[in-house]
Amino acid sequence: MSMSQPEALFRLQEIELNILGHQKRLKEITAALGDNQAVATAQEAYSDAQNYLKPLQQRARQLDHEMQSNAEKIRTTNDQLYSGRVRNPKELQDMQNEIAALTRRNAELEETLLEVMVAVEEAETRLKSAETHLNEAQQSATGEHADLLDEQRRLQSENRALLQKREAALQDVTPDNLKLYNGMRPRKSNQPVAMLVNQSCSFCRVEQDLSIISEARKGQKLTYCLSCGRILVYRSG
Ligand SMILES: [Zn+2]
Repeated sequence: MSMSQPEALFRLQEIELNILGHQKRLKEITAALGDNQAVATAQEAYSDAQNYLKPLQQRARQLDHEMQSNAEKIRTTNDQLYSGRVRNPKELQDMQNEIAALTRRNAELEETLLEVMVAVEEAETRLKSAETHLNEAQQSATGEHADLLDEQRRLQSENRALLQKREAALQDVTPDNLKLYNGMRPRKSNQPVAMLVNQSCSFCRVEQDLSIISEARKGQKLTYCLSCGRILVYRSG
C-alpha cells in the first residue's frame, strides 16, 4: 500500500510534534529535579526561627547569671554585716543599702526574665513547627523526585521509540519534499502540514476552492492552503 506524499509528510509531522512534546517535558523534569523551591523556602523559615531563638536564649542565660551573681553578693554582704567584724556605722549602712539595691535589682531582673522566658517558649514552638514543615517538604520532595524520575524514564524510552518511527517515516518522503517540509517548519510553528476537513484547512479553518479540494483529494502532488499556505492532506473518514 503506497502512501501519498502529503500523507507521508503528515505522518512525519505527527511523530516530530510528539518528539518535541517529549523533549519539552524532559527539559521541565530536568529543571524540577535540579531545584526544589518548597524545600528551600522551608529551610529558610527553619533558619530564621533558629536565628530568632538563639539571642533570646542567650538573653535568658545572661539574666539568670546576673541574678545568681547578685544573690551571691547579697549572701556575702549579709554574712559580713552579721559577722561583727565591721563596726563602722557608715560602712554598715552602706552594706545594708547595697543589699537593698541588689534585692530590688533582682526583682526587676526576675520580671524581665519571665518575659524573656515567654518569648523563648514562643520561639521554640515556632522552631518546632518550622522543623516539622521542613521535614514534610523534604519527604514530599523525595516522593516527587521518585515520580519525576519514573516519568523521565518513561519519556526517554518513548522518545527512543519515536525516533525509530521517525526514521521509518522518513523512508516514505522524497528528498525534495523533505527539504520543502524542513524549510517550512520554522515559519509554520513546526506544522507545515494541515488536514483538509469538511473542505477547510484544519489549521486556519479557511474553506478551500474546489480546485484545491480536488487536487488534495487526488494527492498526486502537493496542494497548499489558500490562506495559511500549509500543505493540505486529504483524509477520508
Ligand atoms: Zn490553512
